[in-house]
Amino acid sequence: MNVLLIGSGGREHALAWALRKSPRLDRLFAAPGNPGIGECASLVELDPYDFPAVIGFCRKNAVRLVVVGPEAPLVAGLVDALEKAGIKAFGPTQQAAQLEGSKGYTKDLCTEAGIPTAAYRRFTEAAPARAYASEMGAPIVVKADGIAAGKGVVVAETLDEAHAAIDACFDGAFGAAGAEVVIEECLVGEEASFFAICDGKTAIPLATAQDHKRVGDGDTGPNTGGMGAYSPAPIMTQALIDRTMAEIINPTVAAMAARGAPFKGVLYAGLMITRKGPELIEYNVRFGDPECQVLMMRLASDLLEILLAAAEGRLEGIAPEWREEPALTVVMAAKGYPGNYEKGTPIGGIEAADAFIGTKVFHAGTALKDGVLVANGGRVLNVTALGATVAEAQKRAYQAVAAIDWPDGFCRSDIGWRAITREV
Ligand code: AMP
Repeated sequence: MNVLLIGSGGREHALAWALRKSPRLDRLFAAPGNPGIGECASLVELDPYDFPAVIGFCRKNAVRLVVVGPEAPLVAGLVDALEKAGIKAFGPTQQAAQLEGSKGYTKDLCTEAGIPTAAYRRFTEAAPARAYASEMGAPIVVKADGIAAGKGVVVAETLDEAHAAIDACFDGAFGAAGAEVVIEECLVGEEASFFAICDGKTAIPLATAQDHKRVGDGDTGPNTGGMGAYSPAPIMTQALIDRTMAEIINPTVAAMAARGAPFKGVLYAGLMITRKGPELIEYNVRFGDPECQVLMMRLASDLLEILLAAAEGRLEGIAPEWREEPALTVVMAAKGYPGNYEKGTPIGGIEAADAFIGTKVFHAGTALKDGVLVANGGRVLNVTALGATVAEAQKRAYQAVAAIDWPDGFCRSDIGWRAITREV
């Protein structure tokens, strides 16, 4: 079976690496991919927003399944176009991708389906939004409705901060994504990521993870796309997993089907485990990055079988198997990230890092320049390892980090600290 993977980050490298292991896979294409993905797939230059070009490529190369990594092509309707052309795709339609594309859409669905989430209201103008924030008091959370490159959420500690965030949204700080604002109650608890795979009617749990969003050790400094992650999330006991499926995931899948927008693909639920139990912070409609990297390290089943079953509506009765060992990934980023950083700096030592037991370096933002591997983004490498404990996975990952020769990169030195504290 030939497969086309859309995307170019560490998430897609992990997906390509896992797909490559499937005995059913013939050719794997990746568009546009990166040098790491190039080790397990043929890289093709295809614009994922040029739907006729993607369809033409699939027809010419007998592609049976298209796997879409990032959210933007999903929100733009790539899966709709492929399905209309009779090509199977893993990922939600444009309408179903609203679960990530519009926070207001998801909040309304939670109300409709009785899904536990923070109390909220939606606004299209600043004055009533400011008044509502004043009425509720701080701390309070202000969110641009649309996709704002992970920057549209402000957890405001003071009313002044909340009002400033509301004004910034309506003044166009996030463009069209901020034309509507959701204001919600601030939840208190520990966060965890929960992944489920859905085929439109059935959802099956994948695994749990936790990530580190802040750039600095001790979870300090500005927010990033994620500086590291580990799976499973120790806080997610089987009882909490069962409750998440029963109270959040299954009602979502049922409500989406009832709305005429059946959800197919990965539902990535950002949860807050509060005193009451799991509450939904937000949905993403694709694998998390870097959470996908730790999930793929632990997946013992054939990923291609699972993705194909989801695309074909055959998930019922499928139970993916996972390695017991935890996995942990350390993100190596270009110095300066998440602010300004340099591109094009040379990277060595990846082979040596990969050679450690239970270790894999996924490429997130790399390129080849005159045959030399160079940094080509903010987050550049995901150094990932399995271990008998999170502490061991962490030790192995940092051992591999030490083997990488990239003077212009940096990483946090404490990925996994919360889970490791629980282990001792
Ligand atoms: P989001 O982009 O919706 O995941 O929000 C980014 C981060 O903001 C989350 O990972 C949480 O840390 C925080 N956050 C969002 N909504 C809430 C909330 N209602 N209460 C507390 N923290 C929140």
